[in-house]
Amino acid sequence: MKKAGQRVLLLLLLPLLLLSFAGHKAAAAGTTPGKIVMDSKELALPKGVILENVNGSVMIPIRVVVENLGFEVLWEQSSRKVTVQQDGKSVQLAVGSTTAQADGVNLTLNAAPKQNGGTVLVPIRFVSEQFGLSVGWDNTDKTVYLSGGITETAPVASDPLPSATPDPSESTEAAPGAVQSPSPTTPPQSGTETLEELDGSVIVAPTPPATSPVVKGAVFSENRLIVAAAGGAKATVTRVTGPDRIVVDFAGAAFAPDFSGSFPGVSTGGSPQGKLDVSGYPLVTEIRYALFSTNPPTVRFVIQTTGYQNYQVSTDESTGLVTIDLNVTGSETGAPVNPVFTGRPVIALDAGHGGKQSGAVSLTGKLEKTFNLAVILKAGAILTQEGWADVVYTRTSDITLGLQDRVKIAQAANATLFVSLHANSLDVSYPNRSKVNGSETYYSRSESLPLAEIMQKHLVAGTGFKDNGVRSKSLHVTRETRMPAILLEAGYLTNAGDEAGLYSEQLQNNLAREIVAGIKEYLGL
Ligand SMILES: [Zn+2]
Repeated sequence: MKKAGQRVLLLLLLPLLLLSFAGHKAAAAGTTPGKIVMDSKELALPKGVILENVNGSVMIPIRVVVENLGFEVLWEQSSRKVTVQQDGKSVQLAVGSTTAQADGVNLTLNAAPKQNGGTVLVPIRFVSEQFGLSVGWDNTDKTVYLSGGITETAPVASDPLPSATPDPSESTEAAPGAVQSPSPTTPPQSGTETLEELDGSVIVAPTPPATSPVVKGAVFSENRLIVAAAGGAKATVTRVTGPDRIVVDFAGAAFAPDFSGSFPGVSTGGSPQGKLDVSGYPLVTEIRYALFSTNPPTVRFVIQTTGYQNYQVSTDESTGLVTIDLNVTGSETGAPVNPVFTGRPVIALDAGHGGKQSGAVSLTGKLEKTFNLAVILKAGAILTQEGWADVVYTRTSDITLGLQDRVKIAQAANATLFVSLHANSLDVSYPNRSKVNGSETYYSRSESLPLAEIMQKHLVAGTGFKDNGVRSKSLHVTRETRMPAILLEAGYLTNAGDEAGLYSEQLQNNLAREIVAGIKEYLGL
């Protein structure tokens, strides 16, 4: 099986290598407006807007960022200033100015934001780097690829909240088993690959010693993703649900300079980013690849499958070929199962903010920290009374607590899972601020997604508010913890309806019960 796969790869790699740069040069003429594709869905562009790449920065309408990535964006007409916010991190840009501020620090942009009628265009590369978002640009068809709602959006981002204590040893959270490349800033060396065919058998010429791990090529054939890796690049394969996909990470590895997929593109950072041809394979919807993080470099492939799909991973040490084989038969194929938990569960409950940090302030002046603590204590009381789990609180009173302290408490208790409770708010200058409402659940690491999906269902049942769905965000407590971890934003304190509900005894009791019910469902109890 390996032989066949190998042969297919090598035969296909040759034409792909020849194609590799052709795609990049074939830039479309300036008449095409371009496209923005977010998680394989095309987004509507405002009329008359043309996407263009200015000095390496693709300029995209800020409205798209607001509506699809869940960022808060403030527009100050008098100074033509745009402020983009997410979780306490703030980036300010001004139309016509190449100077931007990120949390008060001045930074220089490749391109200044522009105003085109009623539309403000911002350099998406800068915004995405500041917020750790995945963004790519395919110059061939002028397409911006955004990933803001799924797990591959959380590269090693800076801490979104100022009180967080950076811990370098945990900075590779997003890439499990990441191997620090000896010199991640140096582009990886990869020799010229020579292919020979003798007596019908394919021989790979000895790979010139690579100084750092690289991914040289990839192809999908016979329901197998075959990746040519060198320099000790190792694959970590994880399955993610909702939608079903198999994520293949080569932590510590970068793309070889001549890497190319069947539909090549290039990210705004200049690294390859594109898709593999999966036509004729109904099990697979799409395979995309990108440099998921740059420091340390991590090459990621995402195999999006039409349903729950088993797979087998094999590595041929002599050739460096890694095969993810979807031709797995047998009784294993079935519905996704939550991980099996053994022993007595330890539930970490985190009431957001506290003490000097009030969190959001509601329309009528009520504090978020009070709501968070009230419901967390109620949920904890139910858990304690039911008696099947140990409960660990990050706080049980109105004390000030850093984000890393919360993580440490959960880690020290070896918690089975981590539930953080918050209530949302929008800045006073946010358009339609008072109308935005609803409940949402956040997670940062893919392993937390099953918990997030179950908890969101129960969150909505508990609040009775609009279902804003599960969202992926790089948040300190959900990113830095090691157990499945989620953050509930129960509702908007800047919405009158949500506010009234959130401070009612009845909603708080319901929500506490539903939080417990969600935990039980997740644990299979
Ligand atoms: Zn909060």
